[in-house]
Amino acid sequence: MLECEAYFEAYRYNLDVLQKINFLNNGEGNPLSKFIVQGGSCSSVNLPSYFEAGHLLQLPVACNPQQRKGRRGSVPNSPILIACETNHALDQFLELLLTLQKNVKIVRVGSQSESEELNRCTLYHQRRKLRRNKRNYRDEGGILYDETQIRRQVTGMENKIRALQTEVAALENVSGLLNLGKMWVGKQLLGRIPSSLRNILENEEKCTKWLGIEDITSNGFQVSNVMRSWFNISGFQQRRSRLVTLGTQPKNRKLDLDGEELVVDNGNGQFSLKNGNDVSNYTMGQRWRIYFRLLEIAAEMGRKTSAEKGKQLKEARLKLKAAKDKVNGWILKGTDIIGMTTTGAAKHHLLLEYAKPEIVIIEEAAEILEARLITSLTKDCKQLILIGDHLQLRPRPTVYELERKYHLNVSLFERMILNGVKMCTLKTQHRMRPEISDLITGSVYKTLYNHPSVREYPHVKGVLKSLFFVTHTQPEKHDPNLMSKSNQHEANFIVGLCEYLLLQGYLPTEITVLATYNAQVFLLQKLMPVSCSEVEVTSVDSYQGEENKIILLSLVRSNPEDKIGFVGIENRVCVALSRAKHGLFVVGNLNSFINTSKIWQQIHAKLESGQNCGDGLELKCAQHGRITRVQRGSDFFPLKSAGGCGERCNAKLPCSHLCPQICHGFDRSHEGFKCMEPCERKCKVGYHQCQAECSAECPPCKLPVMWRCKSRIHETFLPCDEPCVGLECCQTQTKEASCQLT
Ligand SMILES: [Zn+2]
Ligand SMILES: [Zn+2]
Ligand SMILES: [Zn+2]
Ligand SMILES: [Zn+2]
Ligand SMILES: [Zn+2]
Ligand SMILES: [Zn+2]
Repeated sequence: MLECEAYFEAYRYNLDVLQKINFLNNGEGNPLSKFIVQGGSCSSVNLPSYFEAGHLLQLPVACNPQQRKGRRGSVPNSPILIACETNHALDQFLELLLTLQKNVKIVRVGSQSESEELNRCTLYHQRRKLRRNKRNYRDEGGILYDETQIRRQVTGMENKIRALQTEVAALENVSGLLNLGKMWVGKQLLGRIPSSLRNILENEEKCTKWLGIEDITSNGFQVSNVMRSWFNISGFQQRRSRLVTLGTQPKNRKLDLDGEELVVDNGNGQFSLKNGNDVSNYTMGQRWRIYFRLLEIAAEMGRKTSAEKGKQLKEARLKLKAAKDKVNGWILKGTDIIGMTTTGAAKHHLLLEYAKPEIVIIEEAAEILEARLITSLTKDCKQLILIGDHLQLRPRPTVYELERKYHLNVSLFERMILNGVKMCTLKTQHRMRPEISDLITGSVYKTLYNHPSVREYPHVKGVLKSLFFVTHTQPEKHDPNLMSKSNQHEANFIVGLCEYLLLQGYLPTEITVLATYNAQVFLLQKLMPVSCSEVEVTSVDSYQGEENKIILLSLVRSNPEDKIGFVGIENRVCVALSRAKHGLFVVGNLNSFINTSKIWQQIHAKLESGQNCGDGLELKCAQHGRITRVQRGSDFFPLKSAGGCGERCNAKLPCSHLCPQICHGFDRSHEGFKCMEPCERKCKVGYHQCQAECSAECPPCKLPVMWRCKSRIHETFLPCDEPCVGLECCQTQTKEASCQLT
């Protein structure tokens, strides 16, 4: 219970599991407790019993049911649990698995998946599928049948309570004559009052007569109107509440439930009703008091009953949950892969205990708090595979003191590595272009090879370099409300660059803007123009594990004291610089970083040797190759409209005219451009110059042409594209197409 100062709810499930946890006691025989709890040396981890000697289980084999079957006995016959910290990461992992193994059975637990492919894999979907097939109801122990029965009971109870509450509401706010004989509580009450009265009240006709109402339907019966006429009072509600209060006084209480006798306060004293009394002897005022008193008693009965039913419903719901858990656990047990978030694993720990996954794979394990990771395990876990990078971001306790004093930011992943557990490092990266990965090779990672595919990446359009650090000395600003920093200069520059890159034809989704401080994230979000509204702006910390084609990074810190805060922390630098695939553009006070931090000195050396840093970014127009140097946000203004160099484009269009636009970064192939020069084609007949503009489809030629008859005496004018159907000739008097075109 160390982490409870804030956000208790977020840890509730984990704490629940930790409280009842005992599977890590060595006595329980869990093979992992030796390492996790006792911190034993991890250099000699035994292989799980199901492994063939010396033969490590490969993930694709483990995930493939066919291959698993073939190796029965040597491979656990339980599902594999894949757990990630976020829903997004989990979706990505499982989607990839689906593409690698078409026939793998995955069940994704939790409702937060946004993946369409995984839709059919959700536990919810699996349950529905299961229920659709009647044969499944004869499953082991009939758990599905049980669940359906209990669910029906619960639904029945819920309906009952809802109906009761409706009746109580009607009784509490009388707006017309209520027929007690037709209400559930009404019937209960009528069973307890003298029969002479009951006979009247359960019959609508008798009841209205008894209460002196001739015709309910004729002139819109209103209780308040009746009350006004009988009691000669206007404040009906007031009057009624007085009646009610009097009625519930202790002296009357015993009679509420007495079937033989009913005592109703008449305002002046009491009168009672004995079984068999002639109810027609009462005055109208007395009758109405009796009537309202009964409604009040009925409402009270209704409230009591619904409270009792509510308690029963609560119990039934617990039963239903247990039955549901059984079914869920059964589904999970029969699948190949269980996908859960770490929170989900704690929340649904019961299901895991039922499904008993022996192999557990945890993604991004280096940024998960140890307690949150532990609660994803059960005592059946025999092999725990942690995937992660302890050189990137560590877990963050919400209370800083826990990090500083108790090192809660050291993940299980990092601790295991420090303890010498067997690990293998992926040395080939598939994400960044070589210049970018080179920045962190040597300084952060000892070795990092580039996969051939990253050498094929295209250069970023519209700039000279695909990797560049723009340095400056403009000061940061402290935001006391957010306890955070911002830097106006960097924000302006990034906004300008972002607009410029979009004009080169990049999609908003291909660019991500990252900042090291939250105040800067807010400032950037505020400054982003409409054209960039779909570009994601976020903090470095929340972008771990993600990537994009182009990353614009604002480092924020810049002050005379060269204080650089956590921009100097190796893990964070590593995350910030390793998100970009094709292009990375960084703005920051580089000198300040060099003066303070060793890792930045190493990075600077790399930047310098590749000429990838300076106080101005060189933009290069695609048409003329002209270079424009930009140092600050305002330098982008002249390029804002088109993203080129500002000159006339003059590129040769497919129609062989020259492009008249201002040099533009977008639509370099001019496919979207409509040439407005006059069309140089001839009309179909070949006589006339086309009158339309170049880019339009040539319209039918409407210029007049003259037709003459053979004798060359008669003539007429027709539009060029209309054929002459014959001219009435002076000689033949016939309409023949014998005319000639001139
Ligand atoms: Zn140009
Ligand atoms: Zn052009
Ligand atoms: Zn023509
Ligand atoms: Zn043209
Ligand atoms: Zn034309
Ligand atoms: Zn003629």
